[in-house]
Amino acid sequence: MIWDELTSPIIDSLDRDIPVLLPIAATEQHGPHLPLATDRMIGWHFAHSVHLKIPKQILILPPVAVGCSNHHMDFPGTLTVSHEAFATYVEEVLESVLAHDFNNLVILNSHGGNQGIGQVILERLGPEVNHLVLVTWWKLASEALAKISETGPGGVGHACEFETSLMLHIAPHLVNKDLIEPGDNQKDLWLGRS
Ligand SMILES: [Zn+2]
Repeated sequence: MIWDELTSPIIDSLDRDIPVLLPIAATEQHGPHLPLATDRMIGWHFAHSVHLKIPKQILILPPVAVGCSNHHMDFPGTLTVSHEAFATYVEEVLESVLAHDFNNLVILNSHGGNQGIGQVILERLGPEVNHLVLVTWWKLASEALAKISETGPGGVGHACEFETSLMLHIAPHLVNKDLIEPGDNQKDLWLGRS
């Protein structure tokens, strides 16, 4: 179920053990060929796929669309918030979920720059919650991704093979195929950033 598509009485009627999932993402440059919304669209794609598969067993919150992207601010179009503002916002959204007695929370991350502060959120909010997990998609799927990668190390890096492939699947009209640069992968980006 999608949290904000439901009514208040329906939320009130739900089993409070249902996991509640919050997608956290970013709005930032993804090279010349992918849109600024890439991380948000990929995170939402995965979250919505879970909803389609097990609609009665998951509640998906509205995504956090702007994350910690200070390291991309040299590129026009990037939006960012400070780590502290991000943590406060995410924690207060999740505390409102807790206030309605849902106590099993999943944070689904699709942006490399949110990983460090995500861990801090986990440590700060964890004691208040029955179950709280932080999942970053390319880490969760790292073994499967390594098996299907056509570009090897770096394929899951920023605006590289997997983000480009996912966007070709999710929103092909937003991918500027003519501007995709072949380039070499960088090993230090392997599983590290998005
Ligand atoms: Zn990305």
